[in-house]
Amino acid sequence: MSGERRPGIATESIHAGEIHDGSGAHIAPIYQTSTFTFSDMQAVAEWAEDPSEGYIYSRGGNPGRAALAAKLAALEGHGRDPDVAEPLAEIFSSGMAAIAAALMGTAKAGNHIITQQVLYGSADHLISEVLPQYGITNSRIPGLDPDLLEEELQQRPNASVVYLETPANPTLRVIDIAATARLAHEHGARLVVDNTFATPVLQRPLQLGADVVVHSTTKYINGHGTIIGGAVVSTDRDLMETEVASLIRFTGGVPSPLDCWLTNLGLKTLPLRMARHCASATAIASFLDEHDAIAATHYPGLAHHPQHQLARAQMSDFGAMLAFDLGTYEAATEFLDRLELCTLAVSLGNLDTLIEHPASMTHRVVPPEERAASGITDGLIRLSVGLEDPEDIIADLARALG
Ligand SMILES: *Cc1c(COP(=O)(O)O)cnc(C)c1O
Repeated sequence: MSGERRPGIATESIHAGEIHDGSGAHIAPIYQTSTFTFSDMQAVAEWAEDPSEGYIYSRGGNPGRAALAAKLAALEGHGRDPDVAEPLAEIFSSGMAAIAAALMGTAKAGNHIITQQVLYGSADHLISEVLPQYGITNSRIPGLDPDLLEEELQQRPNASVVYLETPANPTLRVIDIAATARLAHEHGARLVVDNTFATPVLQRPLQLGADVVVHSTTKYINGHGTIIGGAVVSTDRDLMETEVASLIRFTGGVPSPLDCWLTNLGLKTLPLRMARHCASATAIASFLDEHDAIAATHYPGLAHHPQHQLARAQMSDFGAMLAFDLGTYEAATEFLDRLELCTLAVSLGNLDTLIEHPASMTHRVVPPEERAASGITDGLIRLSVGLEDPEDIIADLARALG
């Protein structure tokens, strides 16, 4: 059907994957069931012929999970070349379950993972502490610098995956997805990208050459702070239909039907929310950047951000995560305790503004020397800008900064 106009991303967020089950229900029901019935033994025999068809047991699949996967796949594939296959997605019970499946699907005992220095704290722990126990080693390259990455790939013929997160948590460093994909592919490795901070509304790694995208759907995708969830998305059908399908089924990190339903509902407003999140974050970043009490403000949208031009090129806007440095643990603590509107909590991407201290909260699991190498100082604060009126967020920050 060449020449057919593809709907815009807001339309797809609302309509892609939606279930219309014939009951006339406008909104899809929640299939809150563990098992599915067979009408008779003939139906069992037919299922045995093609076990990929139909629902049997909700660990294997559930209609609400499939609907959410179809919507997310449509968004990550949005705007793709029509000759490239639509991606497939699988939904997990957490972002970490999704990351574990993506890495275990692309690296086996004897393989090697190359990744950046600063990472989401639990992904850092999975790669540096857990996977080595199963024979999957790793090395870290700050910012995945292309020259150092090339050298490392040459020295590690067993490297099967390059794993990257951009913008990175919590320092907001931006990494070139297309350039990293080219290098990985030249050396026979796959590129897996954590797209949690940007979401498919701002950045579509598969179109930039990544092989696999992972998400914590807990964050912007759900957007309302009501669930823990994750996703793996890829155009590699073989990887999705064999490795990833097997890993979710046999390690069992499946989401509940209610969580899938809530996530699908949240995802419908993602484009609308991201536009407002980004506009407010831009205003707040300039306010922080000009404030005397702040030693440094990290936001890809600021002209002095070291990868500002790259962010401009690979993202359609700069996101709503930012970090700033108050210099010392004491200054950070006093500031956080004076806030009234911004909520002190880990997690991000919610309707309301969340603020946290990475060194003592999200990145506590990262050893102090590694934290220092990653630029996570004791005065660093991470802000997830919410959808409140930006003037109110700024007033709260201004008062607490004193
Ligand atoms: C939260 C998060 C994860 C982990 O996701 P969970 O849903 O908490 O398991 C991974 N990567 C990034 C960037 C995150 O923010």
